[in-house]
Amino acid sequence: MSKQNPNSIEPHAAAPGVLKLEGSAARLQLVFASLVLVVPLLGTIEAGRLIWVTEIPAWAWWLFGVMYFVHMFGVTAGLHRLATHTGFKTSETMKMLLTIMGSMAAQGPLYYWVSQHRRHHLYSDQKGDPHSPNLHENKWLGLWYSHMPWMLSKHVSTWSHYAKDTLRDPVYFFVHRYYLAWVLLGLLIPTVIGALITQTFHGAWIGFIFGGLARMFFANQSAWMVGSISHRYGSVNFDTKDNSKNNWIVALLAFGEGLQNNHHAFPINYRHAVYWYEPDLTGWILALMNKLGLVWDLKFPNQSSINKLSLKKDKV
Ligand SMILES: [Zn+2]
Ligand SMILES: [Zn+2]
Repeated sequence: MSKQNPNSIEPHAAAPGVLKLEGSAARLQLVFASLVLVVPLLGTIEAGRLIWVTEIPAWAWWLFGVMYFVHMFGVTAGLHRLATHTGFKTSETMKMLLTIMGSMAAQGPLYYWVSQHRRHHLYSDQKGDPHSPNLHENKWLGLWYSHMPWMLSKHVSTWSHYAKDTLRDPVYFFVHRYYLAWVLLGLLIPTVIGALITQTFHGAWIGFIFGGLARMFFANQSAWMVGSISHRYGSVNFDTKDNSKNNWIVALLAFGEGLQNNHHAFPINYRHAVYWYEPDLTGWILALMNKLGLVWDLKFPNQSSINKLSLKKDKV
């Protein structure tokens, strides 16, 4: 890794605590990011072929749905609202479970995820935001860059700068360190379930494709729309000084994360819905888990903080 000349840095990387990977580290990052972008797509094409040539059993669709839930809830509750924003507290076991589920999404190791996302909040839609759709001259190119190619950037946020608190946490260290094992586990579980249900290799393959790769493709496309679509299209509740928007379609697909304008107004909230009618599945489940005593100290702003930033002056 090397320090950058400030004048030669691409706009998405122009922030303190950003280093440019070089040599084998850069090649490794490129290989892993490319695999995450391409392999689930190939698996989805195979899912399409299977749908065309054979009847897909009901269990395979259920497996897709359940694994989509595990993937999305792990990312939103574990990596995002807990590890990155500390929006609630929970036991060490639940913390491990949620962040392992999130790591199955293959969106990068925990420290990478946390530090990139915290930089996104710090420089939202300004120079230094790793995935803003609003920094390119060509707005369509900007939208595309913020959806996927940003992950191929050699410029990464340093963990010691952006994620110092998580480095000292033994659970986060463990989950980060064995990242690849969690990604493989997320592919292995549906494969084994398919094999157990059908006792055939064909069943194992259907499980791998539907619960593994196709699930990863659709869930990650939904998650990445949070950084692209929800920073361009949608409504606004709060004056956040950035371009974050509340996009309900993305919120439905990504369990509440599409409510970016709310989230950028109050990043440490355990829930992204501020008003009761806004769709936030992860927030609703965390509220239920709180009632069951599984999570606690849920952070939510009081009415006067909401009114201060609100453009609507509504009651919550
Ligand atoms: Zn955002
Ligand atoms: Zn966030």
